[in-house]
This record gives sequence, structure tokens and C-alpha cells, in this order.
Amino acid sequence: MKTEFSLTQLADPDIAEADKILRACVHCGFCTATCPTYVLLGDELDSPRGRIYLIKEMLEKDKPPTAEVVKHIDRCLSCLACMTTCPSGVHYMHLVDQARVRIERDYSRPLAERALRAVLALVLPRPRLFRASMVMARYAQPLAALLPASKAAATPGLLRRIKAMLALAPKGLPAPGPAGGSVFPAAGERRGRVALLQGCAQQVLAPRINQAAINLLTRHGVEVVLVRDEQCCGALTHHLGRDGDALARARANITVWQKEAAQGGLDAILITTSGCGTVIKDYGFMLREDRDFAGPAAQISALAKDITEYLAGFALTPSRQKGDVTVAYHSACSLQHGQKITGLPKELLSKNGFVVKDVPESHLCCGSAGTYNILQPDIASRLRDRKIASIATVKPDMIAAGNIGCMVQIAGGTSVPVVHTIELLDWATGGPKPGSIGQGLN
Ligand code: SF4
Ligand code: SF4
Repeated sequence: MKTEFSLTQLADPDIAEADKILRACVHCGFCTATCPTYVLLGDELDSPRGRIYLIKEMLEKDKPPTAEVVKHIDRCLSCLACMTTCPSGVHYMHLVDQARVRIERDYSRPLAERALRAVLALVLPRPRLFRASMVMARYAQPLAALLPASKAAATPGLLRRIKAMLALAPKGLPAPGPAGGSVFPAAGERRGRVALLQGCAQQVLAPRINQAAINLLTRHGVEVVLVRDEQCCGALTHHLGRDGDALARARANITVWQKEAAQGGLDAILITTSGCGTVIKDYGFMLREDRDFAGPAAQISALAKDITEYLAGFALTPSRQKGDVTVAYHSACSLQHGQKITGLPKELLSKNGFVVKDVPESHLCCGSAGTYNILQPDIASRLRDRKIASIATVKPDMIAAGNIGCMVQIAGGTSVPVVHTIELLDWATGGPKPGSIGQGLN
């Protein structure tokens, strides 16, 4: 794609990067076929190619974006299916990330929307605040029936977004998991030492996921540390275009992880929420212009691994070999498109005694996408319904995924138990049966 940035504009490293990405696009349009918003809405401006044009115009003109541009960029899920499809290697993620920062900086959203985004950016990365807000949301849930129902294709108003937010609140919350600073020694001879990302929403909604990871790792000789003073990885605010907050969190995490690596040694930083993993693996790029942090950020990104990547190097010892439990594997976008991890979780599950079924249209997002199911509830619920219908065709006993956002989104529309891949692997290798799985399955 031809670009027309001035030399002055190109002196800005972000614009130079955008120019490189834009020039790689040959407008072939292959990406439209796999873009969930184009599939649903059929509007070229809601396709990757359309958004690439809009972003090019916005950056070249260097003027505040119009409401129309913001609408189409906001509808992007950042699912990155377009990156998997693109034959020219267009790095759409870095382009849309830059567009979101530009929108946040130059566009004045309506007051109610600004307030909602500010609340999300404040609450979600802070587990204590998030826990308190979930408790309040539970009490406010009866009010949801009084709020307007979803209307597809219209711009969602504040009340519909609040309704979507209340619908996501769980009926009850589990007790908090172990605190930062906890160390879980390896059982028997130690063969490794890792940090396990504590996450923010996940540690409130489902501490059982990291507990399963700790159980499995320590049982296989790996010491696990929950690093003190670790923060939210920054993914949530990064996707809201609030890069000041996201980069501050990245720097804080890099500092504490480096300290831990220097003191006790770390073979890896393991992540059980693939949305966080995609961003931590991108720290090196996000901080490439930071003189103090560029090197350390690249080192941390190289240490970051999805839990399934790390386990691939292990001979797990399965204790259940029956092969009588059918698992529909939901491939989270951040794992399959963001990190290009596709076959590994399924291989681990089948090697450990599960019958694993691919879900039709597995490249399409379930609609979770960070805060998307709150900010774009209509599109998100259509994607969820489509995903659940696809899952139902394989008649699973349970659904496995590697990302808490997808788990919550899918569980909101089905009675089939939804579990994390690591919970099944822990169960298969001697750990407890995940609580949401029915009595009939042993
Ligand atoms: S597939 Fe790639 S090259 Fe083709 S239009 Fe989409 S982004 Fe551009
Ligand atoms: S990230 Fe997903 S929603 Fe956004 S343009 Fe690409 S395929 Fe479409």
C-alpha cells in the first residue's frame, strides 16, 4: 500500500513502524474472510483491510479521528485472525495498538463512555477493587432485567453496556488464592524454577486455575514462585489505548521479575491467561525505544511462556487412560493468532487421556476479547452464540480453553462445564477433578 508520510512524520519511530506495516499490505482482502466483524456485519470498514485504510488516513493526516473512524476501530476485537490469514505478514496488531493510543489521545468520547472506560481501566487491573466490584455487581444483578435488551448492529449505549457488565458477574466468588511472595517447592528433586503470573481478573474469578498449575508443576519437580509486587501485565489498559498505564505496569513487572531471576533464578515466566501472554511476549517491542528498559523487556519477553509451551518439554505421567471424556478445545484468539500456539494444548490433552475435538470455525473469536464483551455487547453476544452453536456440534462432555476471558464468555451461554486446559492436565496426572465437572465423569 502506498503511503504519503512526510519526512518529519517518519522521524517518529511509531510512524516509521506504521509506514512499514502499511506498505506490506497489498490490499488482497484475504483477511476479510476470517475477520469476525466482517463475517457478522459485512461492511468493508469492519474488515481488517477497511480498518487499515482508516488507520492510514488518520495517521497520515495527523488530525483527530472522526466518530465514524472510531466506531470501526472500536468494533475490532484485536483477535488477530487477520494476522494468521495475511499472506504478506502485515503486523495488524502493532498498527491497531497505535490507532487505539491515537484515538485515546486525540478523540473526545461522550462523557458517559469516557467514564465507563475510566472505571474499567481503574478496576480491572486491581484484584481487590475488582473483587469488591464483583460483589456489588452481584447485588445489582436484579436491576439488569430493567435495562434495555441487546439490539444488534446499533451503537451500544451506556445502559446496555452496564447490563452486559452485570451479566458477567458470577453468583459467588471463591476465596482468594495464595499471595505474591509465596514459593511452592518442588516435590522430590528440583528440575526447574519458574514464576507464575498471578493475573488480575483470573485470580479473583478462578484462583483454581493457577492452583492446578502449581499442583502439576511442583508434582513434576518444578519450584513455583508468585513474585512479590507483581502487577497486572497491562493488557487491559493497553487494549483501551492507555499506553501510559500499560507501559508503567510493564516496567514495574520487568523490574520485579528481573530481581527474582537474579536472586533465585528463573527458567521461565509462565502464564495461564493467553491474553496476558500475548502482551508480555510483546514487552520487548512495546519498550523498544526506552533506553533503560529495551534490553530487559526483550529478555523478559523471551522468558515468557504459555504454560502449555513449558509443559511440552515434560514427560507428564498420566494416571487416567480411559479416553472416555470428550473435550471440545476452544482455541483462544490470543493463543492461536497472538502466540501461534495451536496444536500443543490439544496434543497435551490427548496424550493425557482425553478425546479432543476441534470446534468448527475455530478461527472465529468467542466475543470476549478483554473488555470487548462490555464495550460492544451486541457483537460479542452474537459471536458467543455462534461459538456455542459450533461447540455443540461436537457434543462435548466439557469445554477446555487457555484464557479466563473466553471461559467466562462461553460459560455464560452453555451448561457444558468450561475448564482451563491446565485443570484437565492436573486432573489427568493425579490432581483433583475440576469442581465444575459433573459426578458422572471420573
Ligand atoms: S490479507 Fe494482508 S495484505 Fe491482504 S488486505 Fe489483508 S492485511 Fe492487506
Ligand atoms: S483483529 Fe480480528 S476483528 Fe480486528 S480486523 Fe483483525 S480479524 Fe478483524
